[in-house]
Amino acid sequence: MSSQYFKLFSTCIPVKGQSESLICDIEYGQIFPIPNLLFEILKSNKTKNIEQLKDAYNGKLDKGIDAYFNLFAEKNLGFYTDTPEEFPDLNLKWQSPYKIRNAVIEIENLENYSISNTLTQLNDLGCEGIQIRILTTIDLDALLAEFECVVGSRIKYIEIFLPFNADTPFEKLIKWRNFDPRITKIIQYNALEEKVIEYKENYYKDVFFLTKKSLSSTSKEQYSLDRFAFNIDTFAEAQKHNIGLNRKISIDSFGNIKNYLTHKSTFGNINDTLISNVINLTEFKKDWNTNNTKIEKCNQCQFRFSCVSNVEIIKKNRKHYKLEECNFNPLTNQWN
Ligand code: SF4
Repeated sequence: MSSQYFKLFSTCIPVKGQSESLICDIEYGQIFPIPNLLFEILKSNKTKNIEQLKDAYNGKLDKGIDAYFNLFAEKNLGFYTDTPEEFPDLNLKWQSPYKIRNAVIEIENLENYSISNTLTQLNDLGCEGIQIRILTTIDLDALLAEFECVVGSRIKYIEIFLPFNADTPFEKLIKWRNFDPRITKIIQYNALEEKVIEYKENYYKDVFFLTKKSLSSTSKEQYSLDRFAFNIDTFAEAQKHNIGLNRKISIDSFGNIKNYLTHKSTFGNINDTLISNVINLTEFKKDWNTNNTKIEKCNQCQFRFSCVSNVEIIKKNRKHYKLEECNFNPLTNQWN
């Protein structure tokens, strides 16, 4: 066996962090933490068979190499082969025909700006997903009427966050739920309990649930493994783009257009500015290509190709930093 090669599947990609590394299985959305020494071994392994690999470490890691490779084979992360050249690396070149891929729309009332016009503009730009954040208890029937333009549109999914209101008849929510299959998530925040009302396992993970969390805490940057995106599309996009900001647009409750809701910079108001004009502004797109590899601290983090942090990026002395520090420390590998 030792003259054979061991190959990770092309969708199982090692990523080095400052104190720990990962194998990201971007086909099945799983991660396997590995020590940094193993990352280096896997790097050497690309050009060496197992025997040559063991020789490179003077026979000191024979047992460890066998144990890990057997484990990886068992966990379906890789395989033994005599013909490694037949299994090239995955091409991580990323492109998208869409000028805007996702949007966040904040709604406080039906007067501040036209929701149907905003949705129509986003559809025209090929926007794939929209998150709607309703801040107050508003007339749900009147709001639903604004969504007529979504039916038959190119929009693929819509997630709706609305405040829990005990006086809202459940039938009204079901009416929203059944309005159009593009409405994939309805989340009532500030509820009295955590309760899943409906869950469908599909590409967009259809859910309808109540949560005790407030919208501010659900919308604030939260960093945890379950918030990272381990999939081929995101991983490929993250090689050259900022996956939290690239091709994203946000409209706050006053109609102000931003790259992301929490950012200070605004680029006009939706009442008198077309989204198509804003997304052509260089300043609006300035951080779309500032991926985590270019940002201090993130460049040492093993989650940099999966972390969809939307935080504003600042530049100091030619270096990029996130305006707010996250709660993960790649140097110590600890979550705060
Ligand atoms: S913000 Fe940066 S350091 Fe924090 S988890 Fe994301 S990539 Fe890692």
